[in-house]
Amino acid sequence: MNDYLTTPAVILRAMDYKEADQLLTVYTRTKGKITVLAKGIKKNASKLRGSLQLFSLTELTLVFGKTFPIVINAQYENNFAVIRSDFTRMSYASYYAELLDQLLVSDEQDETLFLLIVQTMNLLSYIDPWLATKVLEIRLLAHLGYTMELSRCQICAQPIDIRQPVHGINGGIVCPHCLTKEAMSTVLLNTESITLLKALSALPFLLMDYLAFSSEAPKQLDDYLDLQLAYILDKPLKTRRFLRNIIESV
Ligand SMILES: [Zn+2]
Repeated sequence: MNDYLTTPAVILRAMDYKEADQLLTVYTRTKGKITVLAKGIKKNASKLRGSLQLFSLTELTLVFGKTFPIVINAQYENNFAVIRSDFTRMSYASYYAELLDQLLVSDEQDETLFLLIVQTMNLLSYIDPWLATKVLEIRLLAHLGYTMELSRCQICAQPIDIRQPVHGINGGIVCPHCLTKEAMSTVLLNTESITLLKALSALPFLLMDYLAFSSEAPKQLDDYLDLQLAYILDKPLKTRRFLRNIIESV
């Protein structure tokens, strides 16, 4: 007898498979990140097509066989039409997908993470897309255990006065005394950037739209998060480089 499962899922990646099929990388509420087979999806008459668009939140019904789980029904709950109609937001959504695909292991159920993905996709629909992406990065890293300590020196644990610019390092910030003792990669963070980092990691999602920041903050935060990601990822993310080029050319 076959096993069936119905679960909400966010479609992260699609890869052509055989003539008319696709393999989809999806993040499901009940099984975490998995790869599923969408048969015949490339045919015009496919009933699945409309509900399996990239980045949609879709209720999938899967049947488990010998190889990949097969999608036998899909009903979209939110296709994030605003993101889909905006090139910049779509570029950020592609980055979300690459980041999640690289950072998350397969077959590990994590309902908190599923909600974080859905909530930050939702944020990407209506707030500044750069800001929405920082919420995802910061909260995703914290959830996976890569917390950034922004009040005390990461090395000697002394409290640090953030009314002056401070040096950010992997995992937090460092005091001037420890900084002179050993060589390390650092990023300068001013008071605004530290305050913004703290707000992004703690504020309720509904309040994110009220955050204001200067034009300097994005570069500092991006440099700082680049530093964190460089320690975690095997290779830089292609879409991240592309997005930084867009931001810096504005
Ligand atoms: Zn120190």
